[in-house]
Amino acid sequence: MNDLTVTRETFDEALVPTYAPAAFIPTRGLGSRLWDTEGREYVDFAGGIAVTALGHSHPELLKVLHEQGGNLWHISNGFTNEPVLRLAKRLEALTFADRAFFANSGAEANEAALKLARRVAFDRHGADKYEIVSFLQSFHGRTFFTVSVGGQPKYSEGFGPVPAGIVHLPYNDIDAAVKAITAKTCAVIVEPVQGEGGVIPADPAFLKALRDACDAHGALLIFDEVQTGVGRTGHFYAYEDTGVTPDILTTAKSLGNGFPIGAMLTTSELAAYLKVGTHGTTYGGNPLGTAIADKVVELISDPAVLEGVKARSASFKAHLARLNERFTLFSDVRGKGLLIGAELVDTYKGRAKDFVAAAGRHGLVMLMAGPDVLRFAPSLIIPQADIDAGFASLEKAIEEVIAAVAAEAAQADATAAAR
Ligand SMILES: *Cc1c(COP(=O)(O)O)cnc(C)c1O
Repeated sequence: MNDLTVTRETFDEALVPTYAPAAFIPTRGLGSRLWDTEGREYVDFAGGIAVTALGHSHPELLKVLHEQGGNLWHISNGFTNEPVLRLAKRLEALTFADRAFFANSGAEANEAALKLARRVAFDRHGADKYEIVSFLQSFHGRTFFTVSVGGQPKYSEGFGPVPAGIVHLPYNDIDAAVKAITAKTCAVIVEPVQGEGGVIPADPAFLKALRDACDAHGALLIFDEVQTGVGRTGHFYAYEDTGVTPDILTTAKSLGNGFPIGAMLTTSELAAYLKVGTHGTTYGGNPLGTAIADKVVELISDPAVLEGVKARSASFKAHLARLNERFTLFSDVRGKGLLIGAELVDTYKGRAKDFVAAAGRHGLVMLMAGPDVLRFAPSLIIPQADIDAGFASLEKAIEEVIAAVAAEAAQADATAAAR
């Protein structure tokens, strides 16, 4: 083997170029702090995209990782294991559901949900009830089925014919939904807050209308809680606060705090349609992943943690209001709990990427949700001192971007005047 020295440039030489990672390489994390190869310290407002809900290197999760890691990592679904059984019981005690299917990601949890819905409709009503209703700007993962169901055509174009029977409607448009949900509909899939689509909360009346239309036409309602679940909104699952209970719920991201795991939760009545051999996965529900997730769920379902999310949310929103008073940067600040989106005013539209890059230079790991929205999805237990430090960095990053945009504008004016 030749030289194994690696740098950021190695990414461009050795990886499939599906990502455009930051200029620095994080090597260590603790709580809501990160350090890179140069020893530079960062506050983490991104949480690995709403994943590290208990921060980095949480001592209780490390303990489970070491203990379960020393006992049994993997055994296959030819056997069951104690951690998967405990995790299922714990999730079922917290939700409407009484059956769980475990997968390795959000996309796979949604794949299972969509296949279950199609199978239920097929077995109950026959081959013609297969339409899946989804919403524009929604995101459900990158497998070919889930990316086709997702409402962002730029992600599914160029990969050949998409699966048939998928309808996309405007989000939060009750009239459109009521018209489009018919006897042919087998399922409606919706995010209670659209995450990737720009942090857009669903109107409770919209979710209620979806529930009613599904009931009227024998369709299943799927809540994709991959991003909103596991405490993110200040409720263990976001549906609890909507007055609407889905038939199927999918969860991943924060569920493993970074250990890859996803789950589909449903009722025993519906679960019965996925008989032995109809669906499966090699790793799904393995003892290492489920032991970790079981501890994550135990810790986050603590009412004190969920209350803490609400308090931290208020702190984030107060900081954003203060920044907006100073800079008039945001046309809207929205979201629930610690999933917050700040939409940029027209002057800065399309520049979310610039703010994220500038934040990195000032010691803050940030996220965007599309080109116009800054997204905040930190650890649910981020200390107040880290929130304040992160916003101090963000303020410097904003000053830098505003100065750069003003300089660009002055340059453009000078060029125009010289003509
Ligand atoms: C991230 C996300 C997914 C996809 O999850 P993966 O683990 O990346 O497959 C699906 N749905 C929503 C709402 C998400 O935010």
